[in-house]
Amino acid sequence: MAHSPRRIAVLGSTGSIGTQALQVTALHPDQFQITALTARSDKEKLFKQVRAFHPQMAGLAQPIPLADIPEDLRFCHWVFGEDALTLAPQTDCDDVLVSVVGMAGLMGVMAAFEKGRRVLLANKEALVAGGQLVTAAAAKAGEDALLPVDSEHSAVFQCLQAAGDNEVDAIYLTCSGGPFRDWDQRRILAATREQALRHPTWAMGQKITVDSATLFNKALEIIEAKWLFHVEHRKIDVVIHPQSVIHSAIRFLDGAVLAQLGTPDMRLPILYAMSYPRRLPTGGEKLDLLSIGTLTFEQPDPGRFPSLRMAREALDAGGAAACVLNAANEEAVSEFLRSKNSIPLGKIFEVVEDCLARVGHLPAASLADVLYADRRARETAASLLGFHNKSVPSCVL
Ligand code: NAD
Ligand code: MG
Repeated sequence: MAHSPRRIAVLGSTGSIGTQALQVTALHPDQFQITALTARSDKEKLFKQVRAFHPQMAGLAQPIPLADIPEDLRFCHWVFGEDALTLAPQTDCDDVLVSVVGMAGLMGVMAAFEKGRRVLLANKEALVAGGQLVTAAAAKAGEDALLPVDSEHSAVFQCLQAAGDNEVDAIYLTCSGGPFRDWDQRRILAATREQALRHPTWAMGQKITVDSATLFNKALEIIEAKWLFHVEHRKIDVVIHPQSVIHSAIRFLDGAVLAQLGTPDMRLPILYAMSYPRRLPTGGEKLDLLSIGTLTFEQPDPGRFPSLRMAREALDAGGAAACVLNAANEEAVSEFLRSKNSIPLGKIFEVVEDCLARVGHLPAASLADVLYADRRARETAASLLGFHNKSVPSCVL
């Protein structure tokens, strides 16, 4: 049976997820059509994408002179500044793929629900910071209005297709362990940007790669899973699985465990969200069970990786604690990435813990509350990082 193509607006099209989403779009031109492409600053890459996918709208968060837009790309509507993220969902799309990095994604997610679009969510920070608001807006928007793209959450979502009405007893979120899995605490705390950017199994954007080294990525994912699947965090177990073959699993009351396996290739979860509930070829290697050899599992070490404990404490604290954790982490990671030897990795743990202690008690009942907590956390992190006189590098808000 012929389907009309799904029309998709992509927020963050030049990044790792955005680029792979466009790869699978190009592989299935009869299935998908792109209505909007937005990025922060990489105009040359965006120009190439606009030329290839002919969207109605293109946007850059960092404005450029109109004269810089090549003649042949003036057919589409160009938007500059942070409005691009909220205007892209207003193009004639069915779905909005939110693949920007950081809290900036929240406004795009909310704008998409407001227009009744389905959200394909790669951006975990939006859900961590504004979980209650996002899930309330998703529930109002209807069934399957929010589909996960993050590989672990996509795996859980895929397993849940077989759950029927059965209660989920536990969720196993798998984790590669990152580049410092075997390192002792002293070395981890002193680790540099170059060491943190060497991820053993996944090629991703820089911020999430650093998060994978501190395990803040998994900390954010515990919070993400709590909101997506409405499970309390005590039922979410993190399992270190260095081979990155099992992308996550669920357990039922009878002890049965369902898992989703695959190669470490984001095109599968991206395309599954885009084509849900159908499955299409991704263009990637398929998993060969015989060549895997051994699958191993370990418990994460809370002493060397305190990030997981901080996530659970933030969830127990409620209010805007998770938002504060996220904002403090974003600021610390941005400083860690700024130059070769700006701060050691251990400073990230310290800044997040201190910010939680200082402003973790703020409320999160409204969008204004969340934006306020986000700003307070960024200011606090900036002062802890020694930026007393600088304006706070902030998200769109
Ligand atoms: P990336 O850094 O490679 O790309 C980020 C994209 O967002 C770029 O296109 C950038 O231009 C855009 N962007 C950033 N700030 C913006 C702003 N203020 N306004 C408009 N555009 C902005 O990041 P990524 O690795 O693709 O990750 C994107 C999101 O997906 C993150 O939240 C990450 O946690 C999540 N995620 C990524 C992966 C992965 O494999 N890369 C896996 C799971 C989840
Ligand atoms: Mg993930």
